[in-house]
Amino acid sequence: MPLKTQALLEALEAELGPGAVLTGEAVSQRAQGIWRPAPLEALAIVRPKDTREVSFVLRACHEAGQSVIPQGGLTGLVHGADTGPEDLILSLERMNAIEEIDQAGRTVRVQAGVPLQTLQEAVAEQGLSFPLDLGARGSCFLGGNLSTNAGGNRVLRYGMARENTLGVEAVLADGTVIDSLYGMVKNNAGFDLKQLFIGSEGTLGIITRAVLRLREAPGSRLSMLLALPDFPSVTGLLRHLDRGLGGQLSAFEVMWPEFYEAVATAPRSPAPPLPLGSPFYVLAEMLGSDPARDEAWVEAVLAEALEAGLVSDAVLASTGARNEALWALRDSVDVLAAGKPTQVFDVSLPIGAMGAYVEAVKAGVAAVDPEARVFTFGHLGDGNLHFVITPRPRSSEAVKAIEAAVYDPLKALRGSVSAEHGIGLEKKPWLGHSRSPAEVKLMQTLREALDPRGILNPGKVC
Ligand code: ZN
Repeated sequence: MPLKTQALLEALEAELGPGAVLTGEAVSQRAQGIWRPAPLEALAIVRPKDTREVSFVLRACHEAGQSVIPQGGLTGLVHGADTGPEDLILSLERMNAIEEIDQAGRTVRVQAGVPLQTLQEAVAEQGLSFPLDLGARGSCFLGGNLSTNAGGNRVLRYGMARENTLGVEAVLADGTVIDSLYGMVKNNAGFDLKQLFIGSEGTLGIITRAVLRLREAPGSRLSMLLALPDFPSVTGLLRHLDRGLGGQLSAFEVMWPEFYEAVATAPRSPAPPLPLGSPFYVLAEMLGSDPARDEAWVEAVLAEALEAGLVSDAVLASTGARNEALWALRDSVDVLAAGKPTQVFDVSLPIGAMGAYVEAVKAGVAAVDPEARVFTFGHLGDGNLHFVITPRPRSSEAVKAIEAAVYDPLKALRGSVSAEHGIGLEKKPWLGHSRSPAEVKLMQTLREALDPRGILNPGKVC
């Protein structure tokens, strides 16, 4: 280790105290991520316990020209927090306090290392709800949710992380603390600076704390699993439910038949809740306020959909356990891999174009590997589709060809190569499919302005 680096780590340890700077085996005994068991590689993991310490670490690294990779719960899917042996990891894991819940303002102030589910449970005890929700809720950190602008299952009604964030505190590369911890919904006093840090994947600053918007906890939850005859019925049903449920539709997830068949049969599900063989399945959810009234309401809206031929079969769940059972199908993405390596995709495009787009992707993948299986599902209400394609080819050329089969058709549609997962390293070669050269240049200009020595998450995003 160069003397300069040694001196930096000693200075950090002296300031942050024993246990704050991990090196050697304390680094390598950790995994690269919750889905990636390979040992973590880094110069050190530095674990500040408050914003002042984050500022100290960044100022020192800025002076030393030391690369810094912010890490949270390591649940990302695009290699946005990858490290090499020369990188310093700044982990927010010790900044895990829920600082204050404001009942009147319906806001909460949190530190970046609070797991999403911990916050959801804490506010539920007070009759409130933080509606951002995704499969990795138990492991992901709110700081990561914000820095990647996470989406998930209820974006249709509540928006992405961005729409649920009222203020942030972030530390710039040179250690400057930007306190934008406001709790108002309306705040047009100049630029909305928090948005620089939300969704920029740790390249413009490190989010240390945030004020999040809370909603009233719903009084009822009704999930419905529906079979549909064709793609026009899928888009028709979305409009029918949104209109019929008076703005209380909170999720609209679509599953293509290969996906439904895989998750609705053994080993995960003893018997499919709806028969196999329909062209499309939708899992929708209404969050309402009155269990008795809402169940009758949903039944009436579904009866109309059956009558109109939008839906051919339906299952309605109104109790906690039955809701969970239906959502467990949607969350069983891990069974698709069947132990084999996969390629996972996250794209966004106009909803009306999705039926034809998916057929084009399947044809493109089959041209690369006729044996490959394409599982299609996603948050259709938000224009967001996921593919799990398996097995992942051995050759990097074939991996690239499958990426092209997914991403190339998006160009003409003005779609996005990333709906909610971010760019990281994995999608960086494809950024130009969804962003013009002038847009990418502007992203780089912002990076240079805020991080002139290029120490924050170097090489990622743009
Ligand atoms: Zn998703």
